[in-house]
Parts: sequence; C-alpha cells; structure tokens
Amino acid sequence: MKDENFAGNSKSAIDFLGNKWEYDCMGCAIANGEMKTPGGIIYEGKYTILVADPEIPIPGFFIVNIKKHINSFSQLNKEEREEIGDIIVYAQRAIKKICNVKEITLVQEERASHFHIWIFPNYSWMNEKIGKGITYLRDICEYSKTNANKDIIEEVLYIAKKAKEYFKEIYK
Ligand SMILES: [Zn+2]
Repeated sequence: MKDENFAGNSKSAIDFLGNKWEYDCMGCAIANGEMKTPGGIIYEGKYTILVADPEIPIPGFFIVNIKKHINSFSQLNKEEREEIGDIIVYAQRAIKKICNVKEITLVQEERASHFHIWIFPNYSWMNEKIGKGITYLRDICEYSKTNANKDIIEEVLYIAKKAKEYFKEIYK
C-alpha cells in the first residue's frame, strides 16, 4: 500500500467490495454522501460519521470521520470534541462486545489531510501471525487486504450492521 493511500490522502480508492471511487478528498466524499462505504453509515452525528474502513476488511475496524475539512484535533471545538469522545466510547464498547476483542488501538495522524480516527481492534490472530502494537498496523492491513475472502467480507458487513443496531439503541 502506498504511503499516501495509508493516510487517506489518495484521490481514489477501491473499496473491499471492488467498487472504485474518485474524489478530491475521501473524508469529504464520505461526509457528503458521494462515497458510499461498505456496510453503510454506522452512526451519523451532527459533526461526525462512523463507518467501517472502506479499504481494509477487518471486522470492527471503524473510522470516525469529521464532516468538515480540517486535519487536527486542535481545530475541533468543544461540541465536536464531545461528540467524537462519545462516539469513540460507544464504538469501543460495541467492538469489544460484538467482536470479542480485548484491546483497541486509536490512531489519528495530522499528515492525513482530512481528520479521521482509526478505531482498530486487536485480534489475537494479528499478534500470532504478524505482531502486536502500532508498528505492525500497516502489515496487518496489508495482510487483511491480501487475504480477504467472501466469509471475512460477510463478517465485516455483519459486524457493521450489529454496531449500527448498538448505536441505534444508545441514541434512541
Ligand atoms: Zn476533506
């Protein structure tokens, strides 16, 4: 995977269902509905959108995406921070419950032109096959893209659906 793709700065993407998307900015395209990510929107708040990562098929690998085009936590106002904080809390609880994972890694890089946070579940197969910790995230993503199959993709979509139900219950 090219470095710019990894940070979400590429101008196009092929999602894990094989759909090709082109845009100026992936974050903006998700926010304005131009890009429909596999599994759909898990939760949409006033300022943010939670989706499954469109390119890496790992069950419960979610992205919190802010709607406006900024690239830093330091540019968020209090209301936006509060909403993001809540979404991360509920997303982590949902992932731990539904996917039965014990650890989750959060990643936010300012080199990505559009602010988003990775909510990355740490499965034991990752530790065994590739390694544990942030150093190995890229290799885990590469491995997951290369070894995707129908069952895994169905599982990813199923988990997204369960997480959507979880959020619906929270915000009813
Ligand atoms: Zn953007």
